[in-house]
Amino acid sequence: MQEFDLIHRYFDWPATHREVSVAVGDDAAILTPPPGEQLVVATDMLVAGRHFPESTAPDAIAHKALAVNLSDLAAMGATPLGFTLSLGLPETDSAWLESFSVGLRAAADRWGCDLVGGDTVRAPQLTLSITAFGSVARGTAIRRDGARAGDRLAVTGTVGDAALGLVVALQPDQVPSGLNDADRAYLLDRLDRPEPRLAAGQALCGQAAGLDISDGLLQDLGHLLDASGLSAEIDLDAIPLSPAARRWLDARPADIDRVLGGGDDYELLLALPPGLALEPAWDLTVIGRLDEAGPVGTVRERAGRPLPGRRGYNHFREEGA
Ligand SMILES: [Mg+2]
Repeated sequence: MQEFDLIHRYFDWPATHREVSVAVGDDAAILTPPPGEQLVVATDMLVAGRHFPESTAPDAIAHKALAVNLSDLAAMGATPLGFTLSLGLPETDSAWLESFSVGLRAAADRWGCDLVGGDTVRAPQLTLSITAFGSVARGTAIRRDGARAGDRLAVTGTVGDAALGLVVALQPDQVPSGLNDADRAYLLDRLDRPEPRLAAGQALCGQAAGLDISDGLLQDLGHLLDASGLSAEIDLDAIPLSPAARRWLDARPADIDRVLGGGDDYELLLALPPGLALEPAWDLTVIGRLDEAGPVGTVRERAGRPLPGRRGYNHFREEGA
């Protein structure tokens, strides 16, 4: 199949948003951010066998590739406008492309974000790069250098599910025997199909500092603290866990290291001023407080319990590196 045929067949669908003036088919896309807004750009590259297991379903790969980019927009408080896709393919497998394109279009529709251009090449390894464009009202983006001493530290959703899902995917013999099939399926789904926290990010524009959790809670907290010149105290008992993760840690408490250090959650980690009322819809849990009590970048546990090394880790990346 020729490149033009491939693009036309799998990646050319009508733009649905007024922000997009020209989409796939011209030399370049034209995006018009709403008046008074700044353009926000994020890009992330994924390589098969390194960032996701080779066995991952094509529609899940598409979902995740877009989700991780939109999570970076969410972490800035931005509203998505559109994205480009560059795809390196080892072969033209029409069943794979069909499933990938269906998954990509579903994800694009889900998050209100049009595919506005891209490129395909032949490559030894399946490789995807997405660049996502969004916009945010001028001066209100959520930044990692905007936290203050006294801010509450909060996370959206639950933490650690994706890291445990990676164990389910790659080391099934390491999964505690008490976990049922529904728990395993839930954790795998959290690894394969992250949900960018766009609504919470947009709602907190101009009111919060923060970032998304891609490298692990403790590592990303370190980034926030370094950028803002602060230290933090966290309460391990307050870390929000899914029922599946809770059952896992009940069986194997030492895996708290995976929960705190594993990547790929794509939840938001936010510093919130003391007076800000938290809406239930944001799904936030306060896990600690930012202060200047310790050296910049350090994290203490409220009851003095030990924390794993600050560097987050991702077993899959380490093994694949
Ligand atoms: Mg990020």
